[in-house]
Amino acid sequence: MEWLGLPFITGLPDSGQVILSCTHNPFLVLLAYVVACVGSFAMLDMAERVDHAQKAQSQRLWRLTGTACLAGGIWAMHFIGMLAFQAPVEVHYALPITLASLMIALLASWLVMLTLSQAQQTLWCYVKASVCIGLGIAAMHYVGMGAMRSEAAAYFEPTLFTLSVLIAMLAGLAALLIARQLRGGMGLPHQLKKYTASLVLGAGLFSMHFTGMAAFNLVLPAGSVLTPPGENDHLQLGLTLAVMTLLIIGSSISAALADKKLQHKEHDLQRVNALLSQLDQARMSLQQVAHYDALTSLVNRRGFNQLFAEKLSEKTKEGGMLAVVFLDIDHFKRINDSLGHDAGDELLKVLASHIKSSVRSHEDVVARFGGDEFCILIGLQDREEARQMAQRIMMKMKEPIELAGRRMVMTTSIGISLFPEDGSTCEELLKNADLALYQSKGNGRNGLNFFSANLKTRATLELQLEEELRHALRENIGLMLYYQPIFDLKTGLVSKLEALVRWQHPVHGLVPPSEFIPLAEESGLILPLGHWVMETALRQQARWRQDPQFARLSLAINVSARQFLQDDFVAQVLALVRQTGANPAQIKLELTESLLLDNVDSVIATMRALKAHGLGFSLDDFGTGYSSLSYLKRLPLDQIKIDQGFVRDVLLDASDAAIARSIIALAGSLGLSVIAEGVETTAHHQFLLAHGCQAFQGYLFGRPLTLEDFESRVRQGV
Ligand code: C2E
Ligand code: CA
Ligand code: CA
Repeated sequence: MEWLGLPFITGLPDSGQVILSCTHNPFLVLLAYVVACVGSFAMLDMAERVDHAQKAQSQRLWRLTGTACLAGGIWAMHFIGMLAFQAPVEVHYALPITLASLMIALLASWLVMLTLSQAQQTLWCYVKASVCIGLGIAAMHYVGMGAMRSEAAAYFEPTLFTLSVLIAMLAGLAALLIARQLRGGMGLPHQLKKYTASLVLGAGLFSMHFTGMAAFNLVLPAGSVLTPPGENDHLQLGLTLAVMTLLIIGSSISAALADKKLQHKEHDLQRVNALLSQLDQARMSLQQVAHYDALTSLVNRRGFNQLFAEKLSEKTKEGGMLAVVFLDIDHFKRINDSLGHDAGDELLKVLASHIKSSVRSHEDVVARFGGDEFCILIGLQDREEARQMAQRIMMKMKEPIELAGRRMVMTTSIGISLFPEDGSTCEELLKNADLALYQSKGNGRNGLNFFSANLKTRATLELQLEEELRHALRENIGLMLYYQPIFDLKTGLVSKLEALVRWQHPVHGLVPPSEFIPLAEESGLILPLGHWVMETALRQQARWRQDPQFARLSLAINVSARQFLQDDFVAQVLALVRQTGANPAQIKLELTESLLLDNVDSVIATMRALKAHGLGFSLDDFGTGYSSLSYLKRLPLDQIKIDQGFVRDVLLDASDAAIARSIIALAGSLGLSVIAEGVETTAHHQFLLAHGCQAFQGYLFGRPLTLEDFESRVRQGV
């Protein structure tokens, strides 16, 4: 019987001769094992590459390379094993069949690689695949054997034959399981495992081959004469084949190594990129925090400055106008104080959205500078546009807002400066818009003003005046007190005085308080100034106590809200009273209603504390403020002063007359005494007298005088 041209027999013949003296070239056997191991290693390596490759195309490439390496390894192992076979008969191999066996090796290897490329599979799937793979390897082996040409017939011992097929299957299963197990590992231990696995797999394939070879017997037909083999080149051929196979597999492994390194680099690069983008995000959110206001999501001062600088340089280069619009919500502090900060924040959010809705969304910049200060930057053609926009904002802001269950109407003060006419730098334009805003507030709020050059001169003058006032206070030069008499109907005498501060300025002469008190309030100088007034007045009162002509006089001292609201105000006053030796019972502190905008309870507490030491209180300029009558009842006052604004026109204006009358009546019902201020004529005096007013202050009774003038007047009995 012939199979693939190889005469082979199914049983050992009775006659004929089994060639027993077949040997193997040990060097080639070893070489065959090495090649099997290297092929296995390459297969494991390529399976890993397939796993790591991200693109389908490169997966396919590595699968093919793996197939080629494994097939090359198995087939070369097999062929070198065949070449190692030495029989005492002439043996050679038919090339086409040898090549066919290579094809089968390729198929089996491809099956290995394909099975490994599938997602995790059950053991049963692997068993099925390894049966096919084992059959493939066995087929390759036995087809390869079929390529053998010799005068002897081949006999395969059935047990060993079956064993060889089983070993092939086991080797296939081992290859699949080991490769699966090695998946995803890294580092030296993993590498060592891979080497060991290659040795084991190589051994599997190798033992399959040699079990097959052990099953193989050459039987010479009876009577044939043994023709000894001539010189053959099996060793050389085996070596060449091994070198070629190893070279091919070696270069595949190097390619895989290079790919692995490249992939690591790519991973590193990806990691670096991810880190960079995280960093970028962090930077952006930092920028967001740094440049935006958290409450309103508008840009903040810093963000505004940056945008402003950009727009300004653009306009400077290309020409065009810009308007800086400064906005301040009128009396916002009252909302915060009365309804709390949460309500204040809520209101700011609504107002911010009102402002945003009144501007052209993308071109204009709306910023919140903190507190209730907003700033808008607009590009425009002429100044009228800025006015219109400001008016639009003011109208929008006046829309009633529901807040904390109340309906309220807010008004806004606005100041505008224009580029290029009012300045060329951001600072200058912002400062000038601020000056214009200051002017709007000074004009009674709820209005808008453009910057003008005389505003600036005034501001500069004020700044200079402030500096000079500071100097005057520090050196104690130029400041003095004037004293204005208050005529008391009960005694028919001047029994009270009001101390009024004056400033003898080296250049401007005598400066009235209306010019420097607001300045002092703004700058905080009111605190040292108020202290100076208090000390000087108390010292004077202490001196007068010693003089019988003056001892009965009580003295009124004006106290500004800011001064009164200091935490240690009570302590300061009591210390001064002690130091100077003044009689607190002869001191009246004049307060204004602006005090009551703040915490009424603490105001009452301060007043009570001072009253406990004998000091008294007047409510100055009554009728001009906002305070409610309910507060008036609660305050521990001694007297009320009718503002001179009502007195002036008391005979001409019916409503002024009505107010003056009702203040007198109110004071009477509250048990407080009343002083009318600004009494200039006898007609004033008569009217007030007729309606029950008991004390008068005004030019009719005496202007404020210097200490010397006042004292000499009293001494003269005028
Ligand atoms: P005030 O407390 O209402 O003082 C009365 C002002 O009316 C004084 O102006 C006084 O000169 C003026 N006056 C008095 N009689 C008449 C009159 O018949 N006709 C007219 N047209 N005016 C009269 P002055 O001294 O210029 O003070 C203005 C304001 O400055 C004061 O108003 C007070 O609010 C403030 N002030 C004055 N001295 C001090 C002070 O030492 N401390 C504080 N905090 N404020 C002061
Ligand atoms: Ca006063
Ligand atoms: Ca007054």
